[in-house]
Amino acid sequence: MRLSPTRRRRWRIVLAVLLISSVGACSSATDAPPNAATSSPPNTAPPGSPTTTLEHSLPPSVHDFLSSTSAFLGTDRIEVWVCEVPQGATDPTFNRSTLRLALDPSVLSGLLNKYVTAYYQQLSHGAYQPAFLPGRIHQMTVDESPQDCLDAALNSSAATTSGVLAVATAENAATAAGGFGTIGYICASRPLSRCPAASTRRGAYVGASDFHPDWGPEPAVDLEEHELGHMLGWTHSGDDIGEDHNSGIDVMSNSAAPRSFDPGRRDGQDTLGINRLAARWLPLSDVAIDQPIQGTAQTFALRPSTGASGTRLLVLPVDSNRFLTVEYLPKSGLDSFFPTGGVTVTLIDQSPAACNQATRCLGPRRRQLTEVGTAPFFDLLTPRSGEWTGQGWSVKVTGLSDVATVQVKFSSR
Ligand SMILES: [Zn+2]
Repeated sequence: MRLSPTRRRRWRIVLAVLLISSVGACSSATDAPPNAATSSPPNTAPPGSPTTTLEHSLPPSVHDFLSSTSAFLGTDRIEVWVCEVPQGATDPTFNRSTLRLALDPSVLSGLLNKYVTAYYQQLSHGAYQPAFLPGRIHQMTVDESPQDCLDAALNSSAATTSGVLAVATAENAATAAGGFGTIGYICASRPLSRCPAASTRRGAYVGASDFHPDWGPEPAVDLEEHELGHMLGWTHSGDDIGEDHNSGIDVMSNSAAPRSFDPGRRDGQDTLGINRLAARWLPLSDVAIDQPIQGTAQTFALRPSTGASGTRLLVLPVDSNRFLTVEYLPKSGLDSFFPTGGVTVTLIDQSPAACNQATRCLGPRRRQLTEVGTAPFFDLLTPRSGEWTGQGWSVKVTGLSDVATVQVKFSSR
């Protein structure tokens, strides 16, 4: 069932977007590379870039979100390298243990093609397919860092490679993050096959832990899935008190959360609808946008954002830098471990304060804050819960079946 409130406007886009940004490391906020752009309006795209054509003008915050995120469609060729870590390596990222795994780029590529490719095909409903190809082994010197190894792999990667994943033979220290990843520099020459990683510096690094034999035949690939998300320009989600890996409902937060419910799980959970919109796996034609007009409540029927079709995301504009997304996350598929299904709300914040910069936080610098409930945010909105209010909006779930029936109302800020 689809409801068609009079105030509801459907925005359609003939899209092919592209351009954009860089940045984004998993473990900590990092500065953009010196030549990284943070904003590129469609009408200033470099020659040869695809263009964005809007049938209607979008809220400015949504327009800028789309202009600063990149489509990832089709095959994404990613070279898999091994970082051979010598005994006595000095970088504090590495565990002091003498454990070293005998890793082979061909074997790793096979495992990643089997598990991570299947995961992303499920997330994108077939729109995007990472293809992992064996790279080589980089023999690290005793004082090289993970970034040094990734740089060496990027420098030697093939011209047809659009990303690099480096896997160390040593585990990371308990105090270090498990890895990092970045979308790299702007690549105006879409498709991906014309964006060599040696130029864009698009890549990720993970320690050896996920490939320890104790996991059994299927490695723990949730971190690789998370870091690949960074290579798509996705950002973390969670709360606004400084810890951004505390959400269990998004692979771009605590990707290991499913394993705390089911020790047999190896994949991460699903992701938020805003990331599908960023990658263009969820077309704008399946996004409903309400307007902040004070008055009567409007009702929307939302299909699961993790599904393949229908209206799957509701946008509630806040201001020129921020907007809310409302989506239905059922207890199914990669999210079958959820205690219950329900509706969540995410604040997309592109204001300078969101990343403590002087300029707006566009592209991977944006923040995505989970607004409903408390960490780990499994307490989703249902017909039995109260309404959520914030940013001038209230959101109430009145029905939950194949669709979530959601009543929203703007009062004032
Ligand atoms: Zn991360």
